[in-house]
Amino acid sequence: MSIDVSKIVQGVEPSATLAMSAKAKELKAQGETVYNLSVGEPDFNTPSHICDAAVAAMRAGHTRYTVASGLPELKTAICDDYKTRFGLTYATTQCVVSNGAKHALHNAFFATLNPGDEAILPAPYWVSYAELIKLSGAKPVIVETSEVDGFKLTPEQLRNACTPRTRMLLLCNPSNPTGSCYTREELLALAEVVVEKNLFVVADEIYERLVYDAQPFVSFPTIREDLQDRTIVINGVSKTYAMTGWRIGWMLAPENVAKKVASLQSQETSNPCSLSQYAAIAALKGDQSCVDVMKVEFEKRRDYVAQRIAAIPGLSAPKMGGAFYAFMNIQAFLGREYNGVRVENSKDWCLELLQQQKVATVMGSAFGAEGYARVSFAASMETLKTAFDRIEEFVK
Ligand code: PMP
Ligand code: GLU
Repeated sequence: MSIDVSKIVQGVEPSATLAMSAKAKELKAQGETVYNLSVGEPDFNTPSHICDAAVAAMRAGHTRYTVASGLPELKTAICDDYKTRFGLTYATTQCVVSNGAKHALHNAFFATLNPGDEAILPAPYWVSYAELIKLSGAKPVIVETSEVDGFKLTPEQLRNACTPRTRMLLLCNPSNPTGSCYTREELLALAEVVVEKNLFVVADEIYERLVYDAQPFVSFPTIREDLQDRTIVINGVSKTYAMTGWRIGWMLAPENVAKKVASLQSQETSNPCSLSQYAAIAALKGDQSCVDVMKVEFEKRRDYVAQRIAAIPGLSAPKMGGAFYAFMNIQAFLGREYNGVRVENSKDWCLELLQQQKVATVMGSAFGAEGYARVSFAASMETLKTAFDRIEEFVK
């Protein structure tokens, strides 16, 4: 007898970012030297004062279940941080700490969308959004943005995509996979449509501390007073503090949503790891200079990657204002043979690049944008240099 999987999970695709990274690790395990620019994960170690806090918590016996929605002290630290940096007032009852921002997103979609609802997803989009929205039974409505607009959604595109079933807009700012950042004016123009069409917004701001060129980051609910009630902010410690493995992310949401998400999480996973929560408190309340040090390094790498891309004829990428990705236009290199292997699309291109040059990237098709490939520059300068030498060699 075989057990049939449910209709809802039948359609779930594996995460392409994690799959490419797993492929790279597989090759590495076979003894190959692999230049891994696939997964978006800071290559820095978690700062030591954060690790120390987790060790101290373990020694102090904080090894039991916590409140399912997160330690009160952590929620207070998160709300205080939003008050200090953005002037936004959130009660701790509006905050739910989860097992990473990915889990917070799943909770947000699951708790707010009904089967048949439409959720607008500007493409290129981060791989997990579409799959997680589908798990709620709702329909992701993919709206293609254009490279000329810096891959940013325009108010007209948003308005045209709305139907009577549209309920949600997903805004990832700064964007994974393109690195583009919205200005206050651009967000204001989108907000007008959001209010006009009575939508709510899931604002994934997990890269907010990684914005370059001394530009200010603009958090969506700060731009108009009436937006906080219709926004669910998603954030976490993974990218800011190099804490991907600790699995701590959160949402800040209207209280009715947060309360239901807390109930859902209490049934679903209970609390996120107690020790990781103590580490996250240390991250938020401790010295922030570690964030600046990593950001300076990411910005140097961003400059280097932009310069290498510009120097390869046929390759281009829009300006990366934030996050740690470059979304490269590879259209000039498709429909060609590479060492006798014909490459038709971004998946072929990325797989051959990995096979032939041992450089791991992620195909644009996984982000809803054929003809592109994403590289993560959360890798050492040395790795980036060799990887781009090899990409150059590959496309020659
Ligand atoms: N949102 C975006 C845009 C991301 O790139 C990531 C990276 N995985 C996440 C959410 C989830 O982060 P995490 O689950 O590690 O907190
Ligand atoms: N967000 C990272 C990426 O896009 C991590 C991988 C993942 O969670 O999918 O590569």
